[in-house]
Amino acid sequence: MSNHFYDQTFGRHADSDRIFLHTEDGDIRFDAFTAQSAQLANALVAAGLSASDRVAVQAEKSASLLALCAATMRAGGVYLPLNTGYMPVELDYFICDARPAIIIADPAATANIQPLADKIGATLFTLDAHGNGSLAAAAADTPKVFETVARGPDDLAAILYTSGTTGKSKGARLTHRNLASNAAVLADTWRFTDADVLLHMLPIYHTHGLFVACNLMAMVGGSMIFLPKFSVAAALRWMPRATSMMGVPTFYTRLLASDDFTGAATRHMRLFISGSAPLLAETHHQFAARTGQAILERYGMTETNMITSNPYDGDRRAGTVGLPLAGIDLRIADAETGTICADGEIGIIELRGDNVFQGYWEMPDKTAESFRDDGFFITGDMAVRDADGYISIVGRDKDMIISGGLNVYPREVESLVDDVAGVIESAVIGVPHPDFGEAVVAIVAADDGAVSPNDITAAVDGKLAKFKQPKAVRIVPSLPRNSMGKVQKAALRQTYAALFA
Ligand code: AMP
Repeated sequence: MSNHFYDQTFGRHADSDRIFLHTEDGDIRFDAFTAQSAQLANALVAAGLSASDRVAVQAEKSASLLALCAATMRAGGVYLPLNTGYMPVELDYFICDARPAIIIADPAATANIQPLADKIGATLFTLDAHGNGSLAAAAADTPKVFETVARGPDDLAAILYTSGTTGKSKGARLTHRNLASNAAVLADTWRFTDADVLLHMLPIYHTHGLFVACNLMAMVGGSMIFLPKFSVAAALRWMPRATSMMGVPTFYTRLLASDDFTGAATRHMRLFISGSAPLLAETHHQFAARTGQAILERYGMTETNMITSNPYDGDRRAGTVGLPLAGIDLRIADAETGTICADGEIGIIELRGDNVFQGYWEMPDKTAESFRDDGFFITGDMAVRDADGYISIVGRDKDMIISGGLNVYPREVESLVDDVAGVIESAVIGVPHPDFGEAVVAIVAADDGAVSPNDITAAVDGKLAKFKQPKAVRIVPSLPRNSMGKVQKAALRQTYAALFA
């Protein structure tokens, strides 16, 4: 009997005595990881977990937490990780929506989460940053072997709630096939092997740190330097033992801000990958100048796993997200009519493939709205493809500004503003305007006194059509971001909503 996802990833190296995880608490071999996931699976089943039941988890990153993810899949369950930053009222929504059979939380959160567990009749276990807690206690006396439950490619493996910067978070239903197929394509595209050591400093409640990184490394039998979180000091301390790193753009800008981050520190590294938010072309160029290495930028989303990547061999173009991954049907289509766009025209990215999720958990209307009749998923990302097939993201459809009936793509304005001397970065948003409907506003991050609103208006004048030029410019010390490095435009729109009232 096979378990489609587990057999191709963690299960593949189950008996290997090679190191899988290097952690601050010590090294963990594949065989020890397998024994731990067996014990955790035994504990889950003893607590009443049946196939297809959800295991909702809000816990600090640790090797044990990753073993819990593997254990849930082995037991035929559905893994449901939750951002460690979610507050009790937010958790109430996720827990009541997903109705997990088992909830795993940090011991310090028990008082908040026990009432939620009671409300839906779930069993609550605790797990702390070092793998201790009631879950470890329940697993300790169980056998170190577990008969992995059979699961097919179309069975559900995980539900990941989208970060949902506007509206309600939606639970993306991902199958064994969705996860396994994407890991295989990425391993191939990025040439990962069992000789690789990935520097892992991302959170594991999000698709980037959990699936892109861990599934891929589990599949190829490589190892990970598995750190609780990113810091420049930790990155520099561990980098000598790594071959590769995955990060959000903020990791790269913070590394570049340190004089200790030098070409010599990276010379042995095979690959730096960036994703989850746009990497400024400027960051790409600075990184290349400092290290001689071209960061490989890729693009994906919770619902679809990874979609495009710059090539491993060949030109890694700054400001682009590269080409569609093998096996993915991708088109750029007019947002309204669905007509396919020509190269150079802006439209919405739509795609089909084994990587694409099965719809939103118990939201049939949202699911129906998100797919075209021929099965293509509508990402909501506005993009343009050049003659060589490289794709550049120009914004989200809901970030698109309509001013005086004309469409403005924020990225076009931002890239000009970002080039102004003294500007760190910018976010261009639309805010309500009595005359134009929406007005273009540039929020510019810069050091005190480094740049004035006039510098910005002067810089775009003559380079952008009048309707695209910012009607107001605000200088701020920094832009608000979520934990994956995405600029929170919804929050900015709220802050500046009354600018023209
Ligand atoms: P999430 O589901 O949290 O991973 O967010 C997915 C969204 O992040 C995508 O729909 C894009 O808007 C954005 N995104 C991911 N990678 C990139 C990238 N390399 N460049 C620009 N936007 C990105």
